[in-house]
Amino acid sequence: MKIKTATFQTSAPDFDSCPTSDFPEFAFIGRSNVGKSSLLNMLAGRNALAKVSTTPGHTRLINFFLMNETWCLVDLPGYGYARTSKTNRAGFEQMIVDYLTRRSNLSCVFVLIDSRHEPQVIDLEFVNWLMSNRVPMVLVFTKTDLLKPAHVEKNIGLFKKAMSKWSEHLPRIFTCSSKTQNGRKELLNIITGTLT
Ligand code: GDP
Repeated sequence: MKIKTATFQTSAPDFDSCPTSDFPEFAFIGRSNVGKSSLLNMLAGRNALAKVSTTPGHTRLINFFLMNETWCLVDLPGYGYARTSKTNRAGFEQMIVDYLTRRSNLSCVFVLIDSRHEPQVIDLEFVNWLMSNRVPMVLVFTKTDLLKPAHVEKNIGLFKKAMSKWSEHLPRIFTCSSKTQNGRKELLNIITGTLT
């Protein structure tokens, strides 16, 4: 897929403020510093997306971008922040829970995981929660240029082992590097495949 247009639409502070839309949505989420902004820029082929999302005041919002006038890229706030009265046990906020469980035009959520680390509790808890709520997802292991392929495979293997305790049906897994552009085509292909 060639990205011809990428237009910032709006930012929503909660589920009720999300825009009404019939376009299929593809949402991206991960812990802070996982490489989400870099990945979104790489996918879109421009800096505009993350520029909006990282503007002060926008990082805790749900940011919507219309892509190619046919689908919507949704940048969700990171999870794993300090637990407050507004976050649930796993540390992700009610607006994330609402968006992921109630948004009827959500096609797929891309969960970004830093490939440099062994499975982290917060990522496992989040993926477990998505699986038990049957939210359509794929896992994307980021920053693969920073370690040897065998090391990436080892960490992915550990993550799969943990997930296989919860379900026989594991989500699809991809790897990417914003530095080398590895994974760009594959991730865009998922979106193309869902759209057609
Ligand atoms: P975010 O907080 O999830 O949006 O993460 P950013 O995209 O801002 O990235 C956090 C840091 O990791 C920055 O210093 C990026 O330059 C770096 N980074 C992100 N993706 C990659 C990658 O694929 N390879 C390398 N080597 N560094 C990356």
